[in-house]
Amino acid sequence: MTYDVIVVGGGPAGMFAAITAAGQGSRVLLLERNDRLGKKLLITGKGRCNVTNHCSSREVLENTPRNGRFLYSAMESFPPEQICKFLQERGCALKTERGNRVFPVSDRSQSVLDCLKRELTKKKVQIVTERVSEILTDDQGVRGVRAAHGDYFAPCVILATGGVSYPSTGSTGDGYAMAKALGHTVIEPVGSLVPLCAAGRDHADMQGLSLRNVAVKLVDQKGKVLYKDFGELLFTHFGVSGPTALSASAHLKGEGCKLLIDLKPALELQKLQERIIRDLDQYRNRSMENALTDLLPRSMIPVVLRRLNISASLQANSLRKEQRRALAELLKSFPVEITGKRPVEEAIITSGGIKVSEIDPKTMQSKKVPGLFFAGEIIDCDAYTGGFNLQIAWATAYAAGCNVKNRH
Ligand SMILES: Cc1cc2nc3c(=O)[nH]c(=O)nc-3n(C[C@H](O)[C@H](O)[C@H](O)COP(=O)(O)OP(=O)(O)OC[C@H]3O[C@@H](n4cnc5c(N)ncnc54)[C@H](O)[C@@H]3O)c2cc1C
Repeated sequence: MTYDVIVVGGGPAGMFAAITAAGQGSRVLLLERNDRLGKKLLITGKGRCNVTNHCSSREVLENTPRNGRFLYSAMESFPPEQICKFLQERGCALKTERGNRVFPVSDRSQSVLDCLKRELTKKKVQIVTERVSEILTDDQGVRGVRAAHGDYFAPCVILATGGVSYPSTGSTGDGYAMAKALGHTVIEPVGSLVPLCAAGRDHADMQGLSLRNVAVKLVDQKGKVLYKDFGELLFTHFGVSGPTALSASAHLKGEGCKLLIDLKPALELQKLQERIIRDLDQYRNRSMENALTDLLPRSMIPVVLRRLNISASLQANSLRKEQRRALAELLKSFPVEITGKRPVEEAIITSGGIKVSEIDPKTMQSKKVPGLFFAGEIIDCDAYTGGFNLQIAWATAYAAGCNVKNRH
């Protein structure tokens, strides 16, 4: 069978590129290695799918620490409001939550996937579940692809095979090898938005504790601030996770980095000391372990007291002034020594991928192989949490899908 366009990869980028290309009148084949489309899409946003961020295209780029500038043109052409419009006009109602995060009203990723699948059917995109192993070329450029059960032909191929995180979803980096075989440079894929490992055992003692509304700073060995954030942080058996830790991972550099957690960001040090004095006075006959329950989550109290060398059984009214001050200082800057990242397989997003200078930013076409286009996570761009990574998938897919027609 001959097509106008072959899309490799049935994730959000591949599906949206196929829909866009078919919408321009192309005959499109979508090849997905899994027996169903959008396996990773279904687990996004804890199964709720944070579709995009309700912000301007400029703000999306500001939230894309890696190669945001490359996305300028694609994002201008397809800003967040466009994907919202697309989904809403097709029956997938959306809502905006804290941090401008957009979710389906149903709170189910399945609603987004169903909407895309309905559109693929409507646009008569042919879907085949086969794994692609090679992109076929001749001296004119792209000719088609080699898949598990045979070859398929088209003058354009959109490669949307994703990165290497969460490989059980089908994203195992196949696209990197296929692009490399055609002369593309692949920037080494590493995990970004990945949980962080910590030294010692304090984090394990607080495993499962989720801190809300904390201010977090990532500092390097010399104390230079690499990243600042505000929000949620989760202690785990290996270290820390949750939105602020995941975003900080994108800025982790070298050894000796620390996360400094301000547990009381609304209170200046002086005010916090006054608050501690009030609490300790109110509970003056209690042990320290029981006197701090208004101030700190239960599982954090033994850790804080251990760090300050204060006995858990010490009576609250026996706490000395300098100990009170040390307590306040620790709550304003609770250090967690970071030893590294969890493996890329556990990352929300892959940093690295096809080198952006080898891709035309307006069309997503390869500068090396005529007819080869890229979309989504396979490209060396990545952003923070908040719906920005899916927004990159939609915008790059739209650019590729719109521009394939210029080739055939
Ligand atoms: C747990 C988790 C939660 C996330 N939550 C959010 C969120 O809420 N909001 C957000 O913006 N981003 C989120 N992300 C990131 C988001 O999922 C990705 O940015 C997005 O899925 C990238 O889309 P993609 O289509 O480029 O790649 P993928 O979704 O990885 O899709 C690639 C597809 O290509 C297929 N494929 C691979 N190789 C081949 C081959 N050789 N032949 C045929 N098919 C192949 C794969 O099976 C897969 O279906 C989350 C990621 C994870 C892991």
